[in-house]
Amino acid sequence: MRLWRLEEAERLVNSELAQGLAETWASCADEKCLADSPYDPALVGVGRWWLSPFTIGNRKLGEIPFYSLPPVATCPGATPFCIRWCYAVYEIANWRAHVREAASYLLSLRDDFPDIVQRFLRRLPHRTVRLHVSGDFYSVEYLEKWAEVARREPSRVFYTYTKSFGLVRRVEAPRNLVIHLSADPHNYLEAVETWRGLRRGLVTYVYTPGAERRDFEVLRYILENTEARILLFLNHVQHAPRLRISAAHMWRRLKEALGPLAGRVVLDPEEFAGAPQCSLCQLCYRAYI
Ligand code: SF4
Repeated sequence: MRLWRLEEAERLVNSELAQGLAETWASCADEKCLADSPYDPALVGVGRWWLSPFTIGNRKLGEIPFYSLPPVATCPGATPFCIRWCYAVYEIANWRAHVREAASYLLSLRDDFPDIVQRFLRRLPHRTVRLHVSGDFYSVEYLEKWAEVARREPSRVFYTYTKSFGLVRRVEAPRNLVIHLSADPHNYLEAVETWRGLRRGLVTYVYTPGAERRDFEVLRYILENTEARILLFLNHVQHAPRLRISAAHMWRRLKEALGPLAGRVVLDPEEFAGAPQCSLCQLCYRAYI
C-alpha cells in the first residue's frame, strides 16, 4: 500500500505552496493573471492543458476538463477496496498534480467556490466537465457547491462517480450534475439502497481478474435488486493480477454467470478494448448533454 501518497496529501494541504496556489486561483480572473503569478505554468494551470484548477484531459478521458482532489483523504466513503486498489493512490503523477489537488481542496472550502469555478469555466469551451478523477464529495456543503455550479451552467454537463452515498442521498442534484454510484465488494449493499432511493445514474464496479466468483455474485445481487445498468471497469492497478481478458471472453463469462441479466452490464470500452476515450464514447454523460 502506498501510504506515503495519503500522508503526502495531508502534508500538501497544509503547505504554504498549496495555500498560495489556492489564493492565486481565488484572486485571478484570467490567464494573464495566472501567467503573471510566481508559479510555474504547469502548477498554476495556464497553457494548452490547464486552466487554473482544471486540467484539460488525460489518457482515458481525452479532452475533457477535470477537477480533482487528494485521494482517500477526501473520500468519506472509502472502503478497504479503495485503499488496496484505488488508481489515484498508485498513479505515477508528477508532484505538481498532487499540489494542484491539495490546492483544489483548499479552494473548495471557500464560500465563493461556485463564483471562482464559474469564472474559469466561462473561459473553457468544453460542454462536459469531469469531477474527481481523484477524490470524492467529502461533505454536503461541498456537494451543494457543485450542484450550484451545475445550476448556473445548464448548458454543460458535470459527471462523476462517487462512494459518498450518504451525502448524495441528502442533496437535490440538478439533472446536469450526473452522479454514478461506485460499488465495490464492501459497499454494494449500500450502493443498491442508494440507487433505489435515487433511481438515476449508473452503478459502476471494478472487475478484478482472479476474483471472478466474488465479482459475479456481487454483480448478480446489484442487477437483481435494482433496474440500474452496471458499468464494468477493469482493475488495471500495477499490482492487480495480469490475466489476459478480452472483451469477447468477458462477455461470454458474463452471459454464462448472469444469463439475461448480463444485458444490463456495459463493459468500459476504453479499459476492456483500449478505445475509445471518454470524449468519444460519452456513455457516462451523453444522455444529459
Ligand atoms: S463508459 Fe465511456 S464515457 Fe464512461 S468511463 Fe468508460 S470510456 Fe469513459
